[in-house]
Amino acid sequence: MIGLCQPCKEKGKFRAVYKVVGGVPMCGGCVADREANPPEPAKPQAPEILEDAKNDKEEKGKTMPKQIDEGTRQEILKDADAGMSVEQIRKKHNVGWITAKNIIDGSGKSAAGKKRAGGGDSSSAPRRAAAKHAAKNSASRWADTISQLREERDRIDRVIGELEQMN
Ligand SMILES: [Zn+2]
Repeated sequence: MIGLCQPCKEKGKFRAVYKVVGGVPMCGGCVADREANPPEPAKPQAPEILEDAKNDKEEKGKTMPKQIDEGTRQEILKDADAGMSVEQIRKKHNVGWITAKNIIDGSGKSAAGKKRAGGGDSSSAPRRAAAKHAAKNSASRWADTISQLREERDRIDRVIGELEQMN
């Protein structure tokens, strides 16, 4: 085993080791191959990125005081009346998804405010369908991916919001 090029040995060839690269004994040919095509550094995959984003938000959620002043609350209600989505509103005012939704639901409909967070959210389904439809019409080849990631982000935001409320 020692003294034989490992990549070559795995292919059933036996060649003398020229150099040990990253703990792998290699022959001159394999060393040259490796230097010509260095192994790509592992890129974080989408789920890891989402996981990072989630962790990031959770940490922020813990350190940021969740205080919505009356002025912001009124602006959120005004934007909701103007037809902005919860997603747009929460971004504009930098508040949690559930926080924004609770403020919007809390206006006028007193029963809605008491509803369990995340339950009976019928507003997101048509919005998602619209987003998907818009993505289909777009020429961008990333549109579907972006749309899927957005849906995933919405879902994560809702889970975070629910967790925040349990704190
Ligand atoms: Zn080799």
